Amino acid sequence: MTHHHLDVLVLAAHPDDAEIGCGGTIARLLAVGVTVGVIDATHGEAATRGDLATRSMEAAAASAVLGLTMRECLGLSDAAVVADDTSAARLIAIVRRTRPTLLLAPLPIDAHPDHTAVAGIARRAYFHSGLAKVHRELGAAYRPKALVSYFGNDFAPPSFCVDVSGHVEKKHAAVRCYASQFGHTDEQRAHYLRRLDPLERAAARDRYFGSLCGVAAAEPFAVEGPFALDAIALLLRGA
Ligand SMILES: [Zn+2]
Repeated sequence: MTHHHLDVLVLAAHPDDAEIGCGGTIARLLAVGVTVGVIDATHGEAATRGDLATRSMEAAAASAVLGLTMRECLGLSDAAVVADDTSAARLIAIVRRTRPTLLLAPLPIDAHPDHTAVAGIARRAYFHSGLAKVHRELGAAYRPKALVSYFGNDFAPPSFCVDVSGHVEKKHAAVRCYASQFGHTDEQRAHYLRRLDPLERAAARDRYFGSLCGVAAAEPFAVEGPFALDAIALLLRGA
């Protein structure tokens, strides 16, 4: 698939991370005609449950539920992701080909080393893709307008939250496509970080951030530095 001028490109370490972290926002954007692609850094083949074929089928099913514009995999090694130039080059090639307005990536603060590594890859690729003399062989220089972090396993003060109240069911339907990742016994759940079902964790977090914003569910995001003053128009509209 080739797509030009994608609106939003979401980078994730493993299949299901994009859905859990910002699946409601993805659904909301797609609902109003914004194009959204997801790039998984790995196939998630090192997960405690689920082999490569299973996880690839689950990712395809979740993509269909959301109606993603595109989904590709960087093909990095699960549980061994490093934020080096070789890894970043794979993302630079995709950024220059799809020319997204926004690049979404994991928050750099996360208990999972793959998530922090992918945050590093995003930072390198975001910067270097805009430099004409860096990796000329990967296409013309292009830098997205902003690098925005969605949340994973840990907390940081969000810069903003997106109201996803109307898209919770679609988000959960997409997350449930990753059936191999849901434990049904205490023993299975003991393998999870903090021993909680991933969907329950995501739902609780979205309700919490929603409660801070006065809506039923919201997904948090972080950007470095302050927003430009244009954003005040949103406040004047009461959005
Ligand atoms: Zn992950």
